[in-house]
Amino acid sequence: MSTPALGGRCFCGNIHFEVVGPEKFACFCYCGSCQRAAGAPVVAWATYARDTFAVTQGEFHWHNSSPGVTRGICSNCGSSVTYENVKRPGEIDIAVNCLDDPCAPMPRAHIWTEDKQPWFQIGDDLPVHEKNIG
Ligand SMILES: [Zn+2]
Ligand SMILES: [Zn+2]
Repeated sequence: MSTPALGGRCFCGNIHFEVVGPEKFACFCYCGSCQRAAGAPVVAWATYARDTFAVTQGEFHWHNSSPGVTRGICSNCGSSVTYENVKRPGEIDIAVNCLDDPCAPMPRAHIWTEDKQPWFQIGDDLPVHEKNIG
C-alpha cells in the first residue's frame, strides 16, 4: 500500500507538483530571506523526502537565493514554492500554502524569530527558536 501523494500548485497554476506525506517536520519561518521571497512576514514550510517530490506540470525557475540554498519559483506568477539546502540533502521544504490541502501538515515550531517583525505577534504555544533548530 502506497501513501497517496499530496498535490499542490503555484498561484497561477502553471506549475503543479506532488509530494508524499506525512511531512518530516513543519514550521513557521520568519527569516529575512523568506520574508523577501514571499513578500510576507512569515512562511509556513513542511519538509518531505526529496525523492517523493515530482513536478507534474510546468517548470520551476530554480533560484539560488543564498549559498547552498535553492528556491523553486514560478517565473510567471512569482510564487515561492520550494526550498532546498545542501546542508539537508534528501529533503525538500514545500510552502504549506501552495498545497491543495494546506491543513495537511501542522506547523510544530517557529524558527528564525530574530528576524521577525516586531508588529507580528506569535499567538500559540509552539516552541520558538531565535535561529534554526539544533
Ligand atoms: Zn505560477
Ligand atoms: Zn526562512
